[in-house]
Amino acid sequence: MQSKFPAMLDRPLILLSNREPYEHVHKPNGIEVRFPAGGLVSALDPILRRTHGTWVAWASGNADRTVADDVGRLAVPPGDPSYTLRRVWLSENDVEGFYLGFANSALWPLCHLFVSKVDIRRSDWESYEHANRMFAAAVVQEAERVGGAPMVWVHDYHFALAPSLIRPLVPDALIHQFWHIPFPPPDVFGILPVGVQNSLLRGLLGNDLIEFQTDGFAWNFMDCVARTLPEAHVSLDQSVIHLDGRQTRVGAFPISIDVAEWQRLSALPHTIDVCRTLRQRYAPRERQLVVSVDRMDYTKGIERRLRALEHMWRDTPERRGTFTMLIVATPSRTDIPAYARLERDVLEAIERLNDEFRTLDWTPIVLVHENVDADLLAAVYGAADVCVVSSLQDGMNLVAKEFIACRTDGNGVLVLSRFAGASDELSAALLVNPFFIDAFADTLAVALDMPRHERVERMAALRDRVANATIEDWLEGILVAAEAADHAAEGGAAAL
Ligand code: UDP
Repeated sequence: MQSKFPAMLDRPLILLSNREPYEHVHKPNGIEVRFPAGGLVSALDPILRRTHGTWVAWASGNADRTVADDVGRLAVPPGDPSYTLRRVWLSENDVEGFYLGFANSALWPLCHLFVSKVDIRRSDWESYEHANRMFAAAVVQEAERVGGAPMVWVHDYHFALAPSLIRPLVPDALIHQFWHIPFPPPDVFGILPVGVQNSLLRGLLGNDLIEFQTDGFAWNFMDCVARTLPEAHVSLDQSVIHLDGRQTRVGAFPISIDVAEWQRLSALPHTIDVCRTLRQRYAPRERQLVVSVDRMDYTKGIERRLRALEHMWRDTPERRGTFTMLIVATPSRTDIPAYARLERDVLEAIERLNDEFRTLDWTPIVLVHENVDADLLAAVYGAADVCVVSSLQDGMNLVAKEFIACRTDGNGVLVLSRFAGASDELSAALLVNPFFIDAFADTLAVALDMPRHERVERMAALRDRVANATIEDWLEGILVAAEAADHAAEGGAAAL
């Protein structure tokens, strides 16, 4: 992807995220480098290359240490180095307490409103604090190495404490953070111990700007600050928070995808072949193909989707055999008991439904339970009559946008949960409440029966939106806002 705004970054860029853009692993034939799939890395890697920046991240590969220097630095991309990857080593205890523990067993369910799944342990919190200190120290070291007044861009819920740890040690830095997941309302945030609430909010308020996926999440954050930190001054109409003589701006910056890349993938001859094969296999003659693509995560509403299908096939037997449901559900966080349970329950439910409804020439649900590469996903999206996104709560949901980008034929119906951030932008989809099973089944029926002219009309509106809000637009919007926050901070200090 070509970046159109390298000139905007006159500060050296230091990015902090949990996932690294390049991971080295031992293989029988030597060391292999892996490029984690996903829009974020493909969006940010080019800007790091152009600006010769620094990316600080967790060293997750088992050969990561072998190829880095003593400090954990190496030049990337391999073979054509142009920026620095600074790896941070975590012990098994750190991974357990920080990553699997506080980040993914407390903050993740809390932010997604899964209150009953929130597990708070003192040792996990201490581990989260410890990891934030380690990553912040690495950022500070990198800031010293590159010199100048850097732009530090922190990513996600793993690093709520890092901004205020970095701030006093790199006072000239412009620090901002993208919060990829939802932010909960105060009643839910209030489940956390009071001291933890304070630390998280004060940590985040070390930023000059915090970017959320939607206005709703930004408002939730401001509400939480207003309720938890009476010493802060929250200006809702201006989306600014003042605390301790500093200001933090907040705003909505819905993340997107590399639209051109998904269009390219969907036009590859191999993709078109796979598309055809999928239709021959699962949607011969009049039969339709409904697809879904998710990580196996309880926030994605996979079980609700299965219940809606069961409801439909029970209540309207004439629907049986009229479509096949292809579920791509990639294993995720299987070390966490809630995820292992979900996986078991979903596999059991699919087996039960297939046993009950299958006929001689029809398997109702086909499960792909592995990580599928983007080119194959493009074929899945392209082959579908209907794509279902049934998140019970989701920061954005990129799958919805990928499906739209791949539909260069202008056809296909998107059924989209109104609890996915994407629904703010994609109102031409068939919006659904996945908690309301009967209505969910009804909406699936509407999607399956939708006349061609309506499919085309809705898809045109969806494609228009996605084409005009790509990952590049997202990046540009954030960099412009960060720059504005920078100037506001310069001019605003005297006013406080
Ligand atoms: N994805 C993938 N392979 C798979 C399943 C999903 O590469 O087998 C990708 C998918 O293309 C999308 C991302 O994983 O880019 C999922 O992003 P989304 O925002 O939908 O949900 P998240 O996993 O971030 O909660």
